[in-house]
Amino acid sequence: METDAFATVRRQLGGISRRDFIKFCTVLAAGMGLPLSAGARIAEAVVTAKRPPVIWLSFQECTGCVESLLRSSHPTLEHLLLDLISLDYSETLSAAAGHQVEEAKADSIKANKGRFVLVVDGAVPTKDNGIYCKIAGKTALEILKETAPHAGAVIAMGSCASWGGVAAAGSNPTDAVGIVDLLPKQKVVTIPGCPPNPYNLLSTVLYYITFKKLPELDEKGRPKFAYSRIIHENCERRPHFDAGRFAQQFGDDLHRRGACLYKLGCKGPETYANCPTVLFGETGAGTWPVGIGHPCFGCTEEKVGFKTPLFTLANIKELSPPVFFSEAFPDKSGISPGIKVLAAGTAGMAIGVGGTAALAALKRSDADDEGDEKGRGDGKEV
Ligand code: SF4
Repeated sequence: METDAFATVRRQLGGISRRDFIKFCTVLAAGMGLPLSAGARIAEAVVTAKRPPVIWLSFQECTGCVESLLRSSHPTLEHLLLDLISLDYSETLSAAAGHQVEEAKADSIKANKGRFVLVVDGAVPTKDNGIYCKIAGKTALEILKETAPHAGAVIAMGSCASWGGVAAAGSNPTDAVGIVDLLPKQKVVTIPGCPPNPYNLLSTVLYYITFKKLPELDEKGRPKFAYSRIIHENCERRPHFDAGRFAQQFGDDLHRRGACLYKLGCKGPETYANCPTVLFGETGAGTWPVGIGHPCFGCTEEKVGFKTPLFTLANIKELSPPVFFSEAFPDKSGISPGIKVLAAGTAGMAIGVGGTAALAALKRSDADDEGDEKGRGDGKEV
């Protein structure tokens, strides 16, 4: 029988069915590499757990990290995240401003010492004692140093907060750095990306709420469920790379026909992220940079995005088989048409299906997953 809490959450999520809600949580669990049974646990935690207080600080940034969360075409993702947490302070989202808000932040830090989650987007300028970014009379450097030690968990949202990103690019006139460099004694979860995928934040928060600990992280602090596979493995243009079909310039015939973007500077072969499988903007087929014809910029890799010129060829780190082979050009040699081999491990497939299926679960009332994978890549391949 449905509890009041369950009904409330479903209402907040736009009245989706109980079945779809459970399905959504189950697919998110699969996306995190958890057994499917963890979906029920996550669903339970969503409706019963006390909402963790969150302080969200924005420093040297373009607001793209917050925008990517808020501007998803389907409102459920943003609602789910904002309903899951108690957002006690956010310069971008607060309706109130000035002393009132600063007092609310101080009160929340005091009341929730060691329990609140600190989310930071944007880099921190360090030149001239950090005077290039000040909020309420304090530098970003001061705010970070006085807030982070009291947090239960610290999340760097986006490439700038993780390791400097765009603010630290080129000559880096303000000596901007990511918060990882400034908090050497604290574990910082990094969710790099420009913008980062909001699903990765949602999944990290859900994991923290459900299991009372952080998900497994790689050596750069990135959740392994989202950043353990190289983009090149999951890319729908991979058959063209393997067959040697490369777009030579933007707008040429091969570019328009969906060929590989390696020669246009695609950094997919040296970048770890789940962009090709989770996608962006919740609009479905192909909505990620490579899917719409732009080479991967490498924004989730510390020494690639914002550090390597786009026109340089990527360093091919490893050449493991792709997770799946989609149809290549039927009229060309190389990969024979129709090859569809499930070549890689099931974990990758779970991650791959995770994001898009989660969206589908919310958008459909009936369990009819047929056609999801088929839809991806439509219009790009001939
Ligand atoms: S080089 Fe880029 S476009 Fe080509 S297969 Fe790899 S990730 Fe995809």
